[in-house]
Amino acid sequence: MSVFSHSEFHQHEQVSFFQCAKTGLKAIIAVHNTNLGPALGGCRMWAYESDEQALRDVLRLSRGMTYKAAITGLPLGGGKSVIIGDSKKTKTPDLMRAMGKAVETFGGKYIVAEDVGTSVDDMNYIYSQTKHVVGISQNGQGSGDPSPTTALGVYTGMKSAVRYRLHRSDVKGLKVAVQGLGNVGYNLCKLLAKDGAQLFVTDVQPDKVALAAQELGAKAVALNDIYSQDVDVFAPCALGAILNDATIKTLKAKIVAGAANNQLSEARHGDMLRDLKILYAPDYVINAGGLINVYYEYLSRATGKSYDRAQVVAHVQKIDETSESIFRRAEQDGISTSSAADRIAEQRFMAPAASRAA
Ligand code: NAD
Repeated sequence: MSVFSHSEFHQHEQVSFFQCAKTGLKAIIAVHNTNLGPALGGCRMWAYESDEQALRDVLRLSRGMTYKAAITGLPLGGGKSVIIGDSKKTKTPDLMRAMGKAVETFGGKYIVAEDVGTSVDDMNYIYSQTKHVVGISQNGQGSGDPSPTTALGVYTGMKSAVRYRLHRSDVKGLKVAVQGLGNVGYNLCKLLAKDGAQLFVTDVQPDKVALAAQELGAKAVALNDIYSQDVDVFAPCALGAILNDATIKTLKAKIVAGAANNQLSEARHGDMLRDLKILYAPDYVINAGGLINVYYEYLSRATGKSYDRAQVVAHVQKIDETSESIFRRAEQDGISTSSAADRIAEQRFMAPAASRAA
């Protein structure tokens, strides 16, 4: 397995491998770039089929965090960690404590948070070994589940896209198709329903769809029909790589704005959306609410000041301005919105230290 010559390596600063025979921990921590600050990113636990698959995932995810922090205007770098294993079968408090020891070896250069397969409880176990963890429980002076804040950010970015593309300042009567009614998707639906949007929803778990129909008046849609709904906005809130050759052709929505990470199957799909005049609100720009939330938790613990929810909400609302500046830049430069976001982020985290400080 190659590391330095890996196609996803992209000048990572540090990639460390950990194993603990006693707890069964097998983990990789990747720090992509710390030019703007310590690398903050979640810990994913997944039953990877191979070590190579785990390495690829951690490298892609940690680099993505560098872009997300930079575009969001946070003094943070990008990092991520993966634990190889099935979280439902092999996760134990001891294993998470061993992960905490691994994080501690970075001495604060990497700050861990929850991700797929890990929870607030797991962050509490990690906290027993290192203070470089965020998303711990509120009674441990953390900020708890970041998903409602992520949903608020997605909603903010979506409204910015609606204003830009549809020239509307509200969502009343707007038709929105939501794929995935999990922690973020369901909270997003609640915000949309409250402001009068009409919802079209799908999920692999029928009980979630039934609840959205009952509580929010959403229309249930079959899994594969979600792309072709005659709606204004498509909001992917489940899986990555769902914007591809097959699905893009069937989209009727004029806007794509959702929470899922890595929605574009390949970079060229951003161009394909642009050619079809579908405005894509880049995923990492509008799903940064959770990162903003945990950053303020980190800051409050580092400074001893209390966690200020109003500050978090004010920063999340800046996603509106950021999204609009990306839409404008894309139009001016004749490029996709995803490329415009990447360019702005790169200008920030790759600028020489002297000009960053100025
Ligand atoms: P979640 O696991 O709570 O929800 C995902 C939902 O998608 C589940 O209800 C699941 O049943 C459903 N689903 C899975 N496969 C599906 C399919 N083929 N079709 C339709 N539905 C399907 O996850 P979440 O925390 O809500 O996150 C959703 C997405 O947003 C993920 O891609 C995640 O990486 C991203 N994200 C989440 C956060 C956060 O704060 N939770 C932050 C940034 C990005």
